Amino acid sequence: MSMLQIDTSKPALVTGATGYVAGWIVRRLLEEGVTVHAAVRDPGDKTKTWHLDEMAASLPGTLRYFKADLLENGSYDLAMDGCGIVFHTASPFKLDVRDPQAELVDAALLGTRNVLDSVQRSDSVTRVVLTSSCAAIYGDNADLALTARGVFTENDWNTSSSLHHMPYSYSKTVAEREAWSISRQATRWRLVVVNPSLVVGPGTHPRATSESFNLVRQLGDGTMKAGAPALPFGVVDVRDLAEAHLRAAYLPEAQGRYIISGQASSLLGLAAALAGRFGGYPLPRRALPKWLVWLAGPMTDRTVTRKLVARNVGLPWKADNGKSVAQLGMTYRPLDVSIQDMFQQMIDSGQLPSLKP
Ligand code: NAP
Repeated sequence: MSMLQIDTSKPALVTGATGYVAGWIVRRLLEEGVTVHAAVRDPGDKTKTWHLDEMAASLPGTLRYFKADLLENGSYDLAMDGCGIVFHTASPFKLDVRDPQAELVDAALLGTRNVLDSVQRSDSVTRVVLTSSCAAIYGDNADLALTARGVFTENDWNTSSSLHHMPYSYSKTVAEREAWSISRQATRWRLVVVNPSLVVGPGTHPRATSESFNLVRQLGDGTMKAGAPALPFGVVDVRDLAEAHLRAAYLPEAQGRYIISGQASSLLGLAAALAGRFGGYPLPRRALPKWLVWLAGPMTDRTVTRKLVARNVGLPWKADNGKSVAQLGMTYRPLDVSIQDMFQQMIDSGQLPSLKP
């Protein structure tokens, strides 16, 4: 890997700058002295942007806000003016939806098309880094059996998700496919895609809204005190993911997709990583039998369907992050550090109770 040369002569656009992942990307860019164009839905809502203002006040870079919505055509034109790099992170991340087309797919797919249409019209953008997901690589753990080497790689695509089964994963898949399709006509700019697994670690905003926080809250608030389904998945620290975005943007040779995942874990793996320091919390300590999750899951949680249980619980998960290590020079923090930092932040900000010794 060559040394990372950050071009500070042109601004960089970050879509969805209020988000959990975006917060750390903005911070890294400001540290490097980059002018950041932060595209947000409501620049007037200081409850969502004060943490970015604080960063800008103490770091070398400059921060400018632009109002933009994924569903409004041309909405990103102004924010993109003069930018060399576009980080497209904005996309709805939620699991409990009533209308997956309206709540997930429209913003993900039409939004990606909208942002890339602006890129096509711009005369300055040379690279777009799209925040996709491992959810665009695989839909269910059962898909691992379809892979060439028994491990998910950048060559794999999610073919099992739909509007009715894993709609969030479906939204990420159709959005990434659309991005590759549009980029094929491009000559001035290159698309580089990062595919993170479940993102954990502290937020730059202490009260983040990302689904990542809901999951970790449920580990600590007693929701899973009777046990957790044996559900393996990959995890990555949010700070490592931000670093991956910068390398994908500024390393000249970066190309294609990159699985960004530190290691395989599970709900019980996360709980075990918390148990040493936070043993007083009602963490899940044993795996629920699969038949019980299959039977009772759908009754306790709308998002847990029998198909989801059948195709994921108790089935292994494995992904190859070797391309990110070899080409982006990625190193990954240990899971214990990420999850403990996040849990502590959730206690400090009142999202989890603080236990008196
Ligand atoms: P997040 O904190 O909820 O951020 C989502 C961002 O998207 C927010 O800034 C939100 O803006 C913006 N957004 C949603 N709908 C929009 C719309 N119609 N117009 C403009 N902006 C809109 O979630 P996150 O975890 O940081 O997710 C960021 C990206 O990482 C997403 O693309 C997600 O799919 C991807 N990702 C996340 C994980 C994970 O585990 N967290 C894993 C893999 C991939 P508002 O503040 O205005 O709502």
